Amino acid sequence: MNAVHPARYWHFLDDGRIQCDLCPRLCRLHEDQRGACFVRRREDDAMVLTTWGRSSGFCVDPIEKKPLNHFFPGSSVLSFGTAGCNLACKFCQNWDISKSRDMDRLMDVATPEAIADTAERLACRSIAFTYNDPVIFAEYAIDAAQAARERGIHAVAVTAGYIGECARDEFFAPMDAANVDLKGFSDAFYRKLCGAQLAPVLETIEWLVRESGVWVELTTLLIPGHNDSDAEITAMCEWIAAHCGTRVPLHFTAFHPDFKLADVPPTPPSTLRRARRIAQASGLHHVYTGNVHDTEGGTTCCSACGARLIVRDWYRIDDYRLDEGGHCPDCGTALAGRFGHFAAPFGARRIPVRIATQ
Ligand code: SF4
Repeated sequence: MNAVHPARYWHFLDDGRIQCDLCPRLCRLHEDQRGACFVRRREDDAMVLTTWGRSSGFCVDPIEKKPLNHFFPGSSVLSFGTAGCNLACKFCQNWDISKSRDMDRLMDVATPEAIADTAERLACRSIAFTYNDPVIFAEYAIDAAQAARERGIHAVAVTAGYIGECARDEFFAPMDAANVDLKGFSDAFYRKLCGAQLAPVLETIEWLVRESGVWVELTTLLIPGHNDSDAEITAMCEWIAAHCGTRVPLHFTAFHPDFKLADVPPTPPSTLRRARRIAQASGLHHVYTGNVHDTEGGTTCCSACGARLIVRDWYRIDDYRLDEGGHCPDCGTALAGRFGHFAAPFGARRIPVRIATQ
């Protein structure tokens, strides 16, 4: 199967270059040049995506690992990514995939239909575009999400939200949920550590929550000394409460030394707990700590009466008390999110899957 696919979201400039409008980087390309994400290229005077139908691997994960705590808790999700990224995070926790220039890494060949069929066969409630940012393989992600939807399977985008306004509607239309990485809350942090800008990410988040109909949760990886001050966390949480409301779940996750920040120590659990307290004081109802054993920080409580509704330890669900409509059994208040019949949870397993349709 040919992985080179016509790309959308570009136009010609007066000087003969092509500008990619898919993300705020707006790469301007001469013939045969690649964009900063590496996987989009100018070829024969048009833009192409070079990774359509190719993946760095498939796994079945618990949905809690995306992380999504309010989207069909306990269900399994067929997860995959491709190669490349449109950000340049010095702390990337998946840098072997996102920084890959080696297309041979993309071992698995899979049409959108094969992905949806596999998810159905493995009884996954969703598929997820993760490991690297799906914005850069938008055409493939959209096709796979549509194929999944035709089979009643949901689609989840795990993304940094760095997408151009011209592509936003089409990209998120077939998505049912998104976890957006809000990597910090200063433009200096985004510029220095991510090679990006904060404002377009905030625009995406606000649009997603207010206008898209997609279920949204946010994640911030706390990096000691870089984005974990009381002032920055407070400003971020107050922005979320004011612009997105207090029902948007927020996950604080722990950094481990990697890539170009190998000399920064791992995030202490006390930092995650401090951030959670700040977020709760800012009015956010559903604030979680991630990548740690912390039952209190993993538990979902009713925003009205405070009852413990879903008790978690890392990715494991130890107690689940919602009805099928997602209501608190004690006071009847609907929990924010998407819920349905809760069966035996998938658990903390991770099962590699091979799909080959070549
Ligand atoms: S998607 Fe890739 S090619 Fe397009 S603007 Fe962003 S980094 Fe550049």
